Amino acid sequence: MLWEKPKCIKCDKEIKGEDMVFVKMRYPKRKGFTEIKAYLRNAGKFICEDCFEHKNT
Ligand SMILES: [Zn+2]
Repeated sequence: MLWEKPKCIKCDKEIKGEDMVFVKMRYPKRKGFTEIKAYLRNAGKFICEDCFEHKNT
């Protein structure tokens, strides 16, 4: 199963490599970050820099 390209949850903009992004996620209960990538795919919500900076405006 292919991983959908990550998108900003606010503006639906595709997140590109090396973009500055903010991730909203629940901290995993498991110890260690060995599976952090897999965890991010399942549970991470990405917010692009533009939306993050303008969220209070
Ligand atoms: Zn955005």
